[in-house]
Formats: sequence, C-alpha cells, structure tokens
Amino acid sequence: MPVIRDVLIWDSKREDAERGDIAIGEDGRISGVLPPKSAKGDVLFDGRGETAAIPGLVNAHTHVSMTLLRGIAEELPLMEWLQTKIFPAEERLLPHHIRSGAELAMLEMISGGTTCFADMYYFMREVAQATLASGMRAALCRGITGDGTRKLNENLSLAEEFGGRDGRILVQLGPHAPYTVPRDTLARIAGIAKEKNLGVHFHWLETEGELETFRNEYKISPSEYLEQTGMLDAPKLLLAHSVWHPVEELGRVNRPNVTLVHNPKSNLKLGSGYAPVREMLKLAVNVALGTDGAASNNRLDMWDEMRAAALMHKGYHRDPTLASARETLRMATLAGASGMGFDSVGLIKEGWSADLALVDISGPRYVGCDAQNLPEFLVYSGSSRDVRATVVDGKVLYRDGRFLTMDAEEITARARGHRQEITK
Ligand SMILES: [Zn+2]
Repeated sequence: MPVIRDVLIWDSKREDAERGDIAIGEDGRISGVLPPKSAKGDVLFDGRGETAAIPGLVNAHTHVSMTLLRGIAEELPLMEWLQTKIFPAEERLLPHHIRSGAELAMLEMISGGTTCFADMYYFMREVAQATLASGMRAALCRGITGDGTRKLNENLSLAEEFGGRDGRILVQLGPHAPYTVPRDTLARIAGIAKEKNLGVHFHWLETEGELETFRNEYKISPSEYLEQTGMLDAPKLLLAHSVWHPVEELGRVNRPNVTLVHNPKSNLKLGSGYAPVREMLKLAVNVALGTDGAASNNRLDMWDEMRAAALMHKGYHRDPTLASARETLRMATLAGASGMGFDSVGLIKEGWSADLALVDISGPRYVGCDAQNLPEFLVYSGSSRDVRATVVDGKVLYRDGRFLTMDAEEITARARGHRQEITK
C-alpha cells in the first residue's frame, strides 16, 4: 500500500494541522491517516516532518488552452479585449493548438500543486484527452454561444464520450454568458442539464455593463433571470466571476447546488471590479476560486490567486478579518471540487481521493510555521515554488521539478511553434 510519510496534514475541516502518514489504497483513495512513521507500505514520498500535505488545489474557472494566447491583449477592458483581440485570435485556433495550449497549462498547474480544474472552451475532446494523459482531474464543457444547436450537440457528445472517464472527468454544459446566449437557448440548456443530470458552467455578471443590460434592456433582476430560465435548478451550477451580482440578491442564489467562482486577478487586471466576497461568505454561499484563462490573468497559479483573494477584500473593506487564510484555502480546494460535482475530493480523509499538494516548509520563509499557523503561512508567505510533489488518485504527477506524466521540454517547444502559427 502506498504511503505518504511524515507530513503536516491540513484541510479545511481541521482547526490545527496534524503530523502523520497518509495511507493510500489500490483504488487511489485515502485509506487512513495514521501517526507519523507508523504506516506500513511502499513509501511514495517521505516528508521528513518538513513537508505540508494539503488537498490538491482546484482551479474552478479557466480556459486552459488560452495559454497560447497569453500576452496577445494587455490592459484592455473586457468587451474590447474580447471583441478586438481574443475572438479574432480564437478563430485561428485548430484542434492541435487547443491540445498544445492545454498541455502547457497542465505543466503550469501541476507544478503548482493544482490537481483539478473546471474548463470551458472548444475542441474539448483535445482537452479531455490531454487531461486523461496528464493524470489530472477536470470538469469540462464546450462553450456554447448563439442559438447553440451545433455547439450544444458537441457538448453532449463530449459528455457521452468522456463523462465519468477514469473517475477523473466530469462533463458539464457550458453556456458562455448571458450576453452571448439568448434566453430561450439558456432555458433549453438548463432543461437538458436537469434531464441528463449534468452540471452547468456559466460566466456571470463579470462587468458592470452586463448588470446595466439586465436593468435597462431585459428589465428583470439577474436572480429572477436565473430562476426563470431554470439555471438555478441545474444539478450543479458554477457561476464564474459574479462580480456584479447585486448584494441584496445573493440570498437567492445561495443554494447547495450553486457555486460562485471568484477570479480576483482576472477581475483586477481587466478592471472589472471586486466581487462581493465579504457578503457571499457572510451568507455561507459556496465560494470557489479560479484563475480564468492565461490571456487575462496571466498565471494559472492558485497560490497567487489565493493571496490576491485573501488580500483584496481586506484592503477594499478596511477589515483584516475578511477572507481569512483558512476560508481562502477552502475556496481553493473543497469548495471548487464539490461545486463541480466531485463528491469525495478536497479533504484528506479516509475514503476521499488521494489528491494532494505536498509543500516544502523547510525554507527560510517558513521559520516559525507550526501545526497551529500552517494555513496562514501557506497563504501569506507560501508560493507555488514551494510545491515538492503533486498527487492525483494516489499517483505522483510531479516531483522535485520533474514531471512524471508529461514531457515538459517537448510540450513547451511544440507550444512555441504553435504560438507562432496563430500570431503570424
Ligand atoms: Zn472565463
């Protein structure tokens, strides 16, 4: 039985961290947390008491293949960024570009301890195959715009082909946003989601202009729109951004099947605003964390994202108690995984998937770190550079700078060539 030996274990259901061994069963699930150096079996990783083990980080909103578009459009507001730069570049993307961008993203995510992500894009068979090959876990959807029939069919075929594969892939439906999908199409998608028991991933009120459209043109409140289209009845609903969801209406989306995905750095960089995370947390809404795509962040680094989330609300509201390190780590692990529909992912607990980030806490920035203050050390002084190993379903994907399932040099070289193809 594989064992992760002598690590300082913390997840969002624990107050203090606990020093121990993590035993992993043949099925890739945690079979027990035992006293340090007591578990018998093959030592997969020896933490020597100077490594933290936290649940693998979960990036709950991204577009992985956009790593190929990194840097092509900087310092523009969302609609101009999309319409003048991103949409035209996306027209040139072919399936092999999507694959290559996805692989590039997976290198970055895996090396930073990210084990799971929610992705919306197109040519998603490529992303699904890259995910399976990399060993990561993901909830995938085909972005649907316009009347959507062809794209919706592609999304449904993706679900048939890859849904549930290896227990690591979930397929969701991906209506892009209220400004790209007509209301009747959205209602149709919500109906299919319910009928086929699929989750839905949707961009929601990222900019103030969208809220104004609801007020001035649709003449309906955003929450009513979600209710009337049936979106709130989807088995799982990820609402990415929710920057401008009216604070007084947050109670109406506070349902167990609904997750608001906070993307602080993309929102800051595109000048979209501050999501009402203080109010979301006060209501105990399930808030997850995502990076968005690399064309608007520009990192797929959940450590960076946690730090931004934990700092920005404190500053904005002048209240240092907001978005605590512990709440932020929960957003970056359990909240994302459960929001996507992965039921036993995001805690270090018997029966749960052995998805882990193993973090070196022996360095200078961790002097003083102990079982009581580990979450604060990780969020405020930690970084993705401290990740020593990344494990999914008990399988080591990355260790001490080396990728065990992917050829980083080859992927990077290939991506460099593909980048030239799409920008020439
Ligand atoms: Zn997005």
